[in-house]
This record gives sequence, C-alpha cells and structure tokens, in this order.
Amino acid sequence: MLWWIITTLVMLFYGVSVTKAVGLLKWPRGIQLFNYIDPESWKYNYPICNRYRQSPIDLNPDYFRYVVDSPALKWIGYDDVPDNITIFNNGHTLELSGFWPAPSIPFITGGPLRGEYLFTQLHFHWGEDNTVGSEHTTDGSSYPLEMHMVHWKRTYGSFNEALRHPDGLAVIGLFFEIDEDPERVAPLNMIFDHIGDVREANKKVNVMPFPLTVLDVIGRQFSFMSYMGSLTTPPCLESVIWILSNFVSPVSTSQMVELRKLRLRNNDRRNYRPIQPRNDRKIFFYLNNNGEPKKKQKCEARD
Ligand SMILES: [Zn+2]
Repeated sequence: MLWWIITTLVMLFYGVSVTKAVGLLKWPRGIQLFNYIDPESWKYNYPICNRYRQSPIDLNPDYFRYVVDSPALKWIGYDDVPDNITIFNNGHTLELSGFWPAPSIPFITGGPLRGEYLFTQLHFHWGEDNTVGSEHTTDGSSYPLEMHMVHWKRTYGSFNEALRHPDGLAVIGLFFEIDEDPERVAPLNMIFDHIGDVREANKKVNVMPFPLTVLDVIGRQFSFMSYMGSLTTPPCLESVIWILSNFVSPVSTSQMVELRKLRLRNNDRRNYRPIQPRNDRKIFFYLNNNGEPKKKQKCEARD
C-alpha cells in the first residue's frame, strides 16, 4: 500500500512536471504565457503588471494638457514598399511585420519624441462584439478595434535593449469605428484578407509587399494624445511613449466578424487589457494646427 502511494505520488509529480515542461517547450521564444480570461492575475507571474505606469488608461479630457507649437510628428519612409511582409497569428493577436533594407526602415520622430523610432510591427486588439475591443478608452468610451504600431528608439541599437529604457518604445495607437462604406474600409483588407491563412495560433504567411501608407491614417498629420505607459501584455514593461490618434479610422462589421474568427490561445475571445489607474500621469493633447479650432488652443490642465 505504502509503495502504491509512493509510486502514485512520484508519477503525479513527474506527470505534472513533464506536462509543464512540454507545455513550455511548445511555446516559441518570445511568446508569453498569459490569457485574457483573468488579466488581473498577470501580476502574479509578471509583477511589473502591478506597477504605477501601466497601460492602457482612459483618455479623460479632464486631465488633458494641450500642447501647441510642438514639432509635428513626422513619418519617414512609410511610403516605401518593403522587401517582404509577414502576417502572423501569435496566439494573442494578428501581427504584421515588414522587412526593409536596413537604411530604409520606416521611422517616426517629432511630436513628443526625442530621436528616431524604428517601426517593427503592428497588431490589433478587439473584443467579443462591437461595443468593446479597444484597450484605451476615450472619456470612458470603447471602440471595436485598436491598432498598435510598435517602434523602438534607434539609439538603443535593438528592440530588446530599447525595452529596458523608459523611453525605449513609441507605440502609435489608432482607433477604429464601424463604417459600412466598402471603399473606405477596403485598405484594411490588404491585411485582413489573409486572416483565413493564419486562423490557427502560430501560423504565419508571407504576403505580397505593400507600403504601410495604404492605410489612410498612416503618414498623416493628426491631433493625438500622448502619455508615458507600458506594454499592454506581459511582462508589462514600462518603456512606452504612447501616441494615440484623435483621428478615427473605418472598419466594417464583416471585417470585425472575420477578425474574431482568428483562434487565439486559451480560447480567448478578446485580447484587450482593461484600463489601468492613471495615477498622477499627465496626458498631453498635441493639436494638429492644420484645422483644429483655435479656441481649443489653451491649457486646460486640472493637475
Ligand atoms: Zn498592442
């Protein structure tokens, strides 16, 4: 009897350990173990997720500080066609990467940024239906879709090194609202037409290269909100200067339906992190001086 108990305990121990080890081995490098069923629990494996500079936040106009006469946000090289584009279901989102010859990687500069930030990938966040989905909210309101364009600061030499610095990354966040005009939503199909090829987690396809400026908003001048925050997925590193467009882009109901067919890990049906405390952070509203009403151009800071 004692032997049976010992054997069972040993088997249970090894069984669990082996399952854990195999589970970990199945995860490619760089993919984190987390789910969207209980984002509150991320902090137990990734303590930084519980710190004070976390994202997303609610972009509450009561806390805006209006910025005028700042250098414009400049988009350089986004018109160039990359050598290669891949679209990847990484189990948490749909991700697009482009590969340009080294000297011509697109970058952003200006606005709140000191230095040049090189584009590395863009991806999406969405929800179970069109009433939710964006990570950031504006005055408490959600959008069905939010796109993130991730950039890293050139002077840090690599993306991984940039992650270690409080100004290492600049992420442009673009909001989408439902629009059923086929012509207006067509550019997004350059990406979404490939969802069927990457429906399962870990699938990746190469697609016909196109310049990122096919999406109308990319390369444009717009008013935007900016604050210091974090990655919105574990390990939640606090290295992101956020730039959130005040210009909302179009997406159709059928495009959202197609995106929701993507199979995510843990059977996640959504991939947006709930809003985090703003704490004492300031949200800077950068006015695009071409067309913004003059009367808005004053400091309305509450804090
Ligand atoms: Zn994101």
